[in-house]
Amino acid sequence: MIHRIFLLGPQGCGKGTQAVILAARLEIPQFSMGGLLREAAAGKDDLAERIRAIQEKGELVPGKVVAEVLRSRLDKPDCANGYILDGFPRNQDQYEMYAEYDKPTAVIVIEVPRDVSIERIAHRSRTEHRTDDTPEAIRRRLEIYDQDTEPMINNYRSQGLVREVDGVGTVEDVADRIYGVCTMQGGC
Ligand code: AMP
Repeated sequence: MIHRIFLLGPQGCGKGTQAVILAARLEIPQFSMGGLLREAAAGKDDLAERIRAIQEKGELVPGKVVAEVLRSRLDKPDCANGYILDGFPRNQDQYEMYAEYDKPTAVIVIEVPRDVSIERIAHRSRTEHRTDDTPEAIRRRLEIYDQDTEPMINNYRSQGLVREVDGVGTVEDVADRIYGVCTMQGGC
């Protein structure tokens, strides 16, 4: 079975960590939209600088750039047997862009209360030093999640593709819940 799994949830829900664990269990590649864009931002050209500035503010990188970066990753041969993508789509335009290309087999949404999310980001910013983990950028990312990402998820909900998972607990607990959802009837 081919899996094309999207992992979504508010910042700090643990989607990056869980994507890595699930990918190892299902033996398929995983990548995050934020990570792909951070790679694209590492260069010295104008585009890299623009992406960097947008990420630091917690705003969304323009759809055209996202589409290009994502397409070039999905075209790599290791994606032929499926993949796990975290942090995409984040709004209706991105939903429509992917819908023209393909359909996910499941959309896993990791749910955590806002205070847990904020506490985890604070912890991450002490250990990982991400330049976009400033209070202002965090606030903006959460705002975009509520305003754009949450409503966009309803597209997938009406197609029966959404699997909601409780994201509170240890990394292992949440990983087992996600794997359970994936191997259950309906699957992922
Ligand atoms: P993340 O690693 O998921 O927290 O994403 C970090 C940053 O990368 C976001 O705040 C955005 O600036 C950018 N980014 C990640 N995913 C997307 C996306 N799907 N569309 C546009 N920008 C994105």
